[in-house]
Amino acid sequence: MASSPAVLMRLVASAYSIAQKAGTIVRRVIAEGDLGIIEKTCATDLQTKADRLVQDLPPEDVDQELIEDGQWEEILKQPCPSQYSGIKEEDLVVWVDPLDGTKEYTEGLLDNVTVLIGIAYEGKAIAGVINQPYYNYQAGPDAVLGRTIWGVLGLGAFGFQLKEVPAGKHIITTTRSHNSQLVTDCITAMNPDDVLRVGGAGNKIIQLIEGKASAYVFASPGCKKWDTCAPEVILHAVGGKLTDIHGNALQYNKEVKHMNSAGVLATLRNYDYYASRVPQSVKNALVP
Ligand code: AMP
Ligand code: MG
Repeated sequence: MASSPAVLMRLVASAYSIAQKAGTIVRRVIAEGDLGIIEKTCATDLQTKADRLVQDLPPEDVDQELIEDGQWEEILKQPCPSQYSGIKEEDLVVWVDPLDGTKEYTEGLLDNVTVLIGIAYEGKAIAGVINQPYYNYQAGPDAVLGRTIWGVLGLGAFGFQLKEVPAGKHIITTTRSHNSQLVTDCITAMNPDDVLRVGGAGNKIIQLIEGKASAYVFASPGCKKWDTCAPEVILHAVGGKLTDIHGNALQYNKEVKHMNSAGVLATLRNYDYYASRVPQSVKNALVP
């Protein structure tokens, strides 16, 4: 008799389903035209009706649709990496950002927005799902809107085409709405050919894995564990690296501080080029 799928793979399949449903809600809120924006701590820290609806999504709502579209079975058919096959539900920590890139969402930069579900085990990010509700929104009326990217360490990442920035090009992606002098100083020291300013941690990791940017540099506090958990997994599953600005791995156990106080440095390739150029003054200003 075939054994039932591992707990981790069942959770990933559920997360995929929930993220996809969340993406549908995000599109519906936009279509209805009332974002219901409220300020959380300040004008650049916002919450929308879509955040709240996705946050409150009841899990029992979501499974049937996914079973019908076949993805659920596809994920459960994949082998669970052996080091994770004995994991129990209570050993896992799930970090959710119902709407990453809220500031940009409120300004109509729709493909900056993602729904992030990251799964951690023993403090390490090991599985993740990113739904991008408005993927393809400028690609014409026949394009399928939205996509879901998922990955597990040791298995790989799926739902996109891996692409690298041309060799020798240094293209940095960074915050659009949370800039600071430190962020600028750090980027300048890396002598980039180009700097892209876009919203969302999920969106920036997608830029890395699709060959649009070579490094995500954010030398500032502000980004939280739920912003980095799922994106980190997708990047690591394809051989990239995400750390704080000092080069330390991020920890995702449930007791950990939510804020990534020492910023984010992430690349698909050539991590050392960027890490070696972080100015000491920037490091001194960012205490983990
Ligand atoms: P950004 O690159 O500006 O889109 O930021 C990535 C993620 O970190 C988003 O979820 C932001 O809301 C969050 N974030 C970054 N900086 C700040 C900040 N200064 N205050 C609140 N949230 C922030
Ligand atoms: Mg976020």
